Amino acid sequence: MHTEHPAPAPEGKSADRSAKKFVLGVDLDGVVADFTAGLRPIAAEWLGVPVDSLPVDVSWGFREWGLEKSGGYEALHRHAVKERDLFRRLPPMQGAPAALRRLSTHDVRIRIITHRLYIPWFHREAIRQTADWLEEHGIPYWDLCFMRDKAAVGADLYLEDSPNNIEALRADNHDVIVVSNSTNRHLEGPRAEDWEAIEAMVVARLQAHASR
Ligand SMILES: [Mg+2]
Repeated sequence: MHTEHPAPAPEGKSADRSAKKFVLGVDLDGVVADFTAGLRPIAAEWLGVPVDSLPVDVSWGFREWGLEKSGGYEALHRHAVKERDLFRRLPPMQGAPAALRRLSTHDVRIRIITHRLYIPWFHREAIRQTADWLEEHGIPYWDLCFMRDKAAVGADLYLEDSPNNIEALRADNHDVIVVSNSTNRHLEGPRAEDWEAIEAMVVARLQAHASR
């Protein structure tokens, strides 16, 4: 069967070698997938308001959209995934799939780490839509981890936008590049504004790692 993804390393020596590969931990929402852009039209429909009335520069939890009067964020999220295929339809962040394809040609193991299963009883939909979306956009990866505690998964470098996750990872001495958006401007760098910058920073880390 043809596969877009690299085959897993066989047992033995080559498995040991692959275990030492530089692991790039990649968050999905707000990093590879433009979650705000994808959710915004669904939120406007849910609230019965024009899309333009919902600000793009939101804080964590979309407080600016006034979701409380319509059941809160969780109700919208559940509807968006179950009835609007949110995770299947999200636009990718500009340049992300192509940059990940280029990065995958380096000696790196791309490990996608996402916390998309935080609402119970629709895990099957969330996982299926996520896997379909990654295939559709030709995004290469070795591992796909649905995890809340991202430090528990282990990576040499994380790409992350959630302020809580960034702070938790840094408190645990992990190397994190802040992927900039309106939720995380208060955090210290290193940070990247777009995928061109992310790619350059990751390549620099890979070169430093290889020369150690
Ligand atoms: Mg995120």
